[in-house]
Amino acid sequence: MDGLENKVIVITGASSGIGEATAVAAAAKGAKVVLAARREDRLEEMGKQIREKGGEAISFKTDVSSFGQVKELAHFAVSEFGKIDVWVNNAGIMPLSFLNKLKVDEWDRMIDVNIKGVLYGIAAAVPIMEKQNSGHIINVSSVAGHRVGFGSAVYSGTKFAVRAITEGLRQELSPTANIRATIISPGAVKTELRQTITDEDALHILKKRAASTNEVPLESKNIADAIIYAIEQPEGVSVNEIIIRPTLQR
Ligand code: NDP
Repeated sequence: MDGLENKVIVITGASSGIGEATAVAAAAKGAKVVLAARREDRLEEMGKQIREKGGEAISFKTDVSSFGQVKELAHFAVSEFGKIDVWVNNAGIMPLSFLNKLKVDEWDRMIDVNIKGVLYGIAAAVPIMEKQNSGHIINVSSVAGHRVGFGSAVYSGTKFAVRAITEGLRQELSPTANIRATIISPGAVKTELRQTITDEDALHILKKRAASTNEVPLESKNIADAIIYAIEQPEGVSVNEIIIRPTLQR
């Protein structure tokens, strides 16, 4: 089954930014979307808007740092829509900070959401996809998963991990199951992500960088388009990674 029509797509971090744009774009192309995040009110409103436009959307309040909740999300998707074709591990946080600030709680949180959340998504979705003998796992990493900047040691560490985990998954799954694995690595995108930063020095570096370049951040829709591109390929075509930067980002 190529294209998006009637595909069931679970999207974590669907309450804003890239996840929201992906859900809206996928539903507009005929996919049945399952919206997951912690802010239930936002998910419900989004679901309503998608349904008003003739699309199919349901939502499930999920904290991806809880394996129990992620498993319940997978069960919910299957009980409502009968299958899971695509699982997008998009939820993430980015409380950048310099290591010497010792923001240990924020390190823990990033590891819980950005790494464990992705692993839990894989653990919940892959057994279902193996039974179906088809599926597609899409994990959102970052340009920060390719290189480390000042203040991004831990965040980059989590995004390097996402790339390593996805590549390992691809290698281990491909001989036995018809399951694809894709890494999406965005550069700067205009979303709420920076709101999680509490380290003034890290914020200062970001602001200085923004002031010293003509870089125009991408829109969430630009990343959603890349995710849709990967999904829309014929089943035998596995897009392994897409890196997308604003043209002027160096
Ligand atoms: P947003 O802050 O707009 O979206 C993040 C999403 O993650 C929200 O929907 C949020 O929902 C969800 N989320 C956060 N914590 C949890 C949790 N514990 N459980 C479930 N959901 C959670 O940022 P983006 O759209 O930019 O981020 C999406 C992904 O893109 C992230 O993985 C990010 O690292 C990555 N990325 C973003 C870039 C950018 O420049 N914006 C660049 C490169 C990568 P809620 O709070 O309701 O739970």
